[in-house]
Amino acid sequence: MPKAYLTIDDSPTKHTEELTDWLLKNDIPAVLFCIGSAYKDLHVECEGIEQNPEPILNAIKKGFVVANHTYTHRRSSEMSFEEVVDEIEKTEALIEELYKQAGIPRLHKLIRFPHLDRGAGGWIVDFNQSGPHEAVHKSLFFDGLNVKPTPPTPEQIEKKAKIQDYLKREGYTAEVFEGVTHPWYAETEMAEARDSLMTFSTSDWMLNPDFTNYSEEWGWSHKTLAALKNKIDTDAHLWRDDSAHVILAHDHNRMFETTRDLIAHMQSKGMEFIKI
Ligand SMILES: [Zn+2]
Repeated sequence: MPKAYLTIDDSPTKHTEELTDWLLKNDIPAVLFCIGSAYKDLHVECEGIEQNPEPILNAIKKGFVVANHTYTHRRSSEMSFEEVVDEIEKTEALIEELYKQAGIPRLHKLIRFPHLDRGAGGWIVDFNQSGPHEAVHKSLFFDGLNVKPTPPTPEQIEKKAKIQDYLKREGYTAEVFEGVTHPWYAETEMAEARDSLMTFSTSDWMLNPDFTNYSEEWGWSHKTLAALKNKIDTDAHLWRDDSAHVILAHDHNRMFETTRDLIAHMQSKGMEFIKI
């Protein structure tokens, strides 16, 4: 039976309480990557831990792992190293405080960067170093996410390395996602990352009703729930049971049903969701 870690970005929203209740009821553990301060753009609609801590405090009490998705959801490539650190640390303080309030020890420090921008923009892993796994890496990061890849500048490469060093020093880890043995993960930069990447994107955001016009304009391939379910069913790697998977989904004010239905679909097809 295939096993997967469910990771959910952009909490808290007005649906977080309902989402975590539903996950709990269906025996689905998850990591919630949370934004520190309320933030809204075309992609994200987050109420912020600072403004709406309650559903995140409750998520901790319900047994979910709460993790860092920065303070204002800005791209690391568009900030100085110092600003990136500031974004991380502000949210870190908020998360620490909630664990303290909940009286639950925090076992792991995890972070996922907004847009998976790790300092080098859409060049999420160094595709020049992907070797035989280039096609898989590009399909994973180009098709599954809304990022435009351009080769990074030397400054961006340096910043990305500096950010990884910082995360290592501060004890951030992605090693908690055990058993991910896909060669394109285990034998590449992906396995070295101190921030949390993923091995499958639900692309749930493609059904954000705010995006109706954009999906035509940007040529997104999946326009219906059936199409996203088909993406799940036909993924070349997701149903392999010789590796664990890390699945990306989103908490969003306008996509709750979509995300829930996609997770339910995976579970009904036999995906076992596991705890870190
Ligand atoms: Zn995000």
